[in-house]
Amino acid sequence: MSAPLPRAAHRPARLLTQNREMRQIGAWNWSLPAWAGRLPDGRTYNTCPSAGVCAQACYARHGTYTWPVVRAKHQANLMFVLDDLPGWESAMIAELGAAKFRGAWVRIHDSGDFFSDAYLEAWLRVCRTRPDANFYAYSKEIDRFRRLVEPDPPPNFLWVFSYGGMQDSALNPQVDRVADVFPDEASIEEAGWASQEASDLLAVLGPQLVGVPANRIPAYLKRLAGRRFSEWQAEVDAEREAGRRRRHLRLVVDNTDQSEAA
Ligand code: SF4
Repeated sequence: MSAPLPRAAHRPARLLTQNREMRQIGAWNWSLPAWAGRLPDGRTYNTCPSAGVCAQACYARHGTYTWPVVRAKHQANLMFVLDDLPGWESAMIAELGAAKFRGAWVRIHDSGDFFSDAYLEAWLRVCRTRPDANFYAYSKEIDRFRRLVEPDPPPNFLWVFSYGGMQDSALNPQVDRVADVFPDEASIEEAGWASQEASDLLAVLGPQLVGVPANRIPAYLKRLAGRRFSEWQAEVDAEREAGRRRRHLRLVVDNTDQSEAA
């Protein structure tokens, strides 16, 4: 039986990649595996701890993202971060020193999210160390951003909060830049939001209410059932709250019965 590979052997040679969509807009990607899963060494992870309904219609849990070679690359990225965050940070800063990143955009997370304070703080240091590059991200980590980013954001880092997560109720579309997934382009226009379909950079450079048309994946469209992610999540939150109230009421009734019987 061969010995397990040392963890450093999982480190990817290149951290930033370009898919077709990113190439068209001259941007680069950093990706983690989406949501929850198990690494080849048996460890479990959740890279999107604040995901809500989005996980049930997640573009990154479908199609090319599930190809073994793509999945292995994303898992190698995550293992590097988990096993050696300072080493990953140095490697990312070194890679971003290449001339091609001067003035370029980097999308942090084609999939996955800022899953811990330490990981987000490492990215903030990367942004500050490479002021010639521009960075942007979608995130559902509202509380983490409120605490760690909003008080003093790096000038070359822009973000948009996206609906469909457990922290949706903390968003204020009057103030926050927000993105919502809509059933289609027509519903985005009807709501008076601005679609980012022409360029993903519009999510951070265009109007503040960002509409994202849902992927045309039949199973996902069926689950979406003509709703926006924000509406779907609000329904789930309301059901959960109703369940919590019912349980609380039952406890009160049970306790009353017991005290009367005593
Ligand atoms: S946060 Fe994004 S990547 Fe994570 S489960 Fe939701 S849609 Fe997928």
